[in-house]
Amino acid sequence: MRYIPQPNVNDDTILTALSANSALASHPQLGMHIALIRESYATYIHANSNPLSISAPQPLQLLDALADAMRWHYLRPPRELDYLADIRMKGSPDVCPMCGSLKTGTLDHVYEKSRFPEFSFFSKNIVPACDCNNRRQQSHQGIQHGERVLHPYFDPQMNQRLVRAKITSVSGSYLKPLIELEVCIPDTDPLFPAVKYHLQSVIMRTQVIQYLEHFWPKILRFYNDYFKLPTDNFTITELDHAVNEALSVCDRRRSTPNNWDSMLIAGLAINPVAMAFLGQHIRDMRSGKINPEDI
Ligand SMILES: [Zn+2]
Repeated sequence: MRYIPQPNVNDDTILTALSANSALASHPQLGMHIALIRESYATYIHANSNPLSISAPQPLQLLDALADAMRWHYLRPPRELDYLADIRMKGSPDVCPMCGSLKTGTLDHVYEKSRFPEFSFFSKNIVPACDCNNRRQQSHQGIQHGERVLHPYFDPQMNQRLVRAKITSVSGSYLKPLIELEVCIPDTDPLFPAVKYHLQSVIMRTQVIQYLEHFWPKILRFYNDYFKLPTDNFTITELDHAVNEALSVCDRRRSTPNNWDSMLIAGLAINPVAMAFLGQHIRDMRSGKINPEDI
């Protein structure tokens, strides 16, 4: 998850150009409905994209032929929509703005185009993403108070730490712990229900848990790559400092604290029992008591 700048695209100009292009399937209906579509764009921005806002956009009742043509323009973009390729290529190379994975390459419609064809090529509705795009399907808002998907162009809080791992020992050991994800802002925060909904309907539908289960043994085995510790003995305070420094590096490298690597290290940093395990594990690795091949 990451807050990113809105694309510098003039959607009004694009709408006008598309509606004037008689070679397109949307002609002439697009021109006939252009005022309505413009109004819907303005409503989207006015509501800060929030589907729970009292002024949130409602689906337009467009003719099927026009709705299909607008979706088709997204799938086979005419030259007026060249900006789509730019967002796909340059949008957020470090991290997926929607789920925090370390990849992008596709585009996600925050308001799904099946229900909202009028936003099929509306730049403020299209964000770079990874394959979480397909896994989310049409989840956009929940039924409980405050439940909605976060929007990387409209929710600046996405650049604060919102989600971290919950690491629990299995049979008293942290060698292969149980790893879950939890919201890490107070449940009194007005954004809490939205973050929780986003966690469940976007992040948890990805392979994040499998990724973290794979990442954990890497941290244990190659601890030197992650944590800068004195070569002889070290105190728990020095370990604490090293883990928090690793977390800062990870946050900076991925331009957001809500990337998958940071989620795991943040969960470690606040877990004193897991930290004590890590400290003992590193000492045992250094003394040769533990063979790295066994991890
Ligand atoms: Zn993603």
